[in-house]
Amino acid sequence: MTAEGGVVTTTVDDILKWGRTNSLWPLTFGLACCAMEMMAAGAADYDLERFGCGVFRATPRQSDLMIVAGTVTMKMANRIRTLYDQMPEPKWVISMGSCSNKGGPYWQHGYHVLKGVDRIVPVDVYVPGCPPRPETLLEAVMVLQKKIRTQESALGGILGGFLKRQSA
Ligand code: SF4
Repeated sequence: MTAEGGVVTTTVDDILKWGRTNSLWPLTFGLACCAMEMMAAGAADYDLERFGCGVFRATPRQSDLMIVAGTVTMKMANRIRTLYDQMPEPKWVISMGSCSNKGGPYWQHGYHVLKGVDRIVPVDVYVPGCPPRPETLLEAVMVLQKKIRTQESALGGILGGFLKRQSA
């Protein structure tokens, strides 16, 4: 019922998508200089919370968004995959910055740097730049929200995640 006494109709699927879209909980971790821009995006000037995305969690088990901000070294790659695996379904990944996207300035000679985090986790949105400005991360969050809103079925996502965990 609305305040005027009217009735709003919707579907369970739409409510789930609405909830997911507006309550993304990012995992708290940063890898290098791009992480400073990510932190700036969460601070008062840019206020990531306006998009329902400001509750950075200290554990992957309470997070549904991984923002990979910085250089992914070979030593960190396994840890990142472990953190991703510990996040519950459904979950999403934003790759922030040239290093995370493709190795950045370490592309040619950085033998210790992974040439793209999408080699170890599935990436939903790529943020270009070295480093990207906080506004670019805000844009990426909005793109991700649009992607979640237009996903085929929110209920299908829950069922898929459940089945995946059962078969693991
Ligand atoms: S993309 Fe540039 S700013 Fe970001 S972590 Fe790499 S070197 Fe640092």
